[in-house]
Amino acid sequence: MIAPSKLAYIPFVSVENMMKLVHAIGLERFMAELAAYIEADFRRWELFDKTPRVAAHSAEGVIELMPTSDGEVYGFKYVNGHPSNTKAGLQTVTAFGLLADVATGYPVLLSEMTILTALRTAAMSAVAARFLAPKGSKSMAIIGNGAQSEFQALAFKAVCGITDIRLHDIDTAATDKCATNLAGHGLKIVKCKTAQDAVEGVDIITTVTADKQYATILTDNMVGGSVHINAVGGDCPGKTELHRDILMRSAIFVEYPPQTRIEGEIQQLDDDHPVTELWQVMTGAAKGRTSAEAITLFDSVGFAIEDFSALRYVRDQLKTHPFHQQLDMLADPDDPRDLFGMVARAKNA
Ligand code: NAD
Repeated sequence: MIAPSKLAYIPFVSVENMMKLVHAIGLERFMAELAAYIEADFRRWELFDKTPRVAAHSAEGVIELMPTSDGEVYGFKYVNGHPSNTKAGLQTVTAFGLLADVATGYPVLLSEMTILTALRTAAMSAVAARFLAPKGSKSMAIIGNGAQSEFQALAFKAVCGITDIRLHDIDTAATDKCATNLAGHGLKIVKCKTAQDAVEGVDIITTVTADKQYATILTDNMVGGSVHINAVGGDCPGKTELHRDILMRSAIFVEYPPQTRIEGEIQQLDDDHPVTELWQVMTGAAKGRTSAEAITLFDSVGFAIEDFSALRYVRDQLKTHPFHQQLDMLADPDDPRDLFGMVARAKNA
């Protein structure tokens, strides 16, 4: 528990400070270390307080709250998903999050999480692939070359040793942007005109498109054996990326089934279709890939524990990095019962 005298000001990591932190640590190292934090928290999965996120849907998108607690620390993220935002020059996904001390209920960290969500989503994808992808995987297709895409590429390089990336987006400007951003990062990049071309011969397929509909980014004939699919973009009711027939041929791995059944690719399947929880693969309680020829599918929707891990990682980094401000967001009168007096005295201050 943090001493009460230190609690009046809350450390706040702004967008500017998050970028400074990322560069001070190094982007790839940041995601590799974050992947280790996620894995550590997945290994103690059972002690977390878990609930599907609370979603407010509209015609344009969704706004969600994602809470969890390990009994000592509580965390939540506010996040939106608005696929048509980019047409207005706005982000599809923006987020911020908070950690609090369970013993006092006092916040201990407030942070931007738009950048941190991209980092944690990529780190989560990469750690899942480390357990599920074919041994010795070197190549990955990325379909959907928007805000998340470069983070995915670099996390897979840092965590899984991916060397070759094949890019495709229906908007060639997005692919050009992604290829330009990834230049000089030690990856071999190929731009592909079609999704079919992009997935040709790769070990891993990442789908990270944004569209508020049942889309078919991958059809059944595009996916052979010996491949791992990292399906990131389908993360809402009514929003999927894969043809149902691919799911029927795949060993499916999920974060938290009660949330993924509503939001993931598996919303296309019966409620009792077998899926494996990733944390069980990490602890050895369940099998991951069972043969070289199998299709493994990580049906990623993003779960609160990953955001908790990300905030926990950032909080630990602030012990050695100065990149935060002290935010006056907690009224903390000297006499805890004299909140009114504090307000009254401020009139003359
Ligand atoms: P973005 O809008 O920046 O990029 C999405 C890209 O997908 C765009 O470049 C668009 O042209 C492309 N696209 C759309 N339809 C396509 C198609 N049929 N074929 C090929 N490309 C297509 O969005 P983003 O921030 O990169 O997020 C992508 C998706 O990932 C969103 O749906 C978001 O909700 C989801 N997401 C999931 C998680 C998770 O944990 N699973 C986390 C963050 C974001």
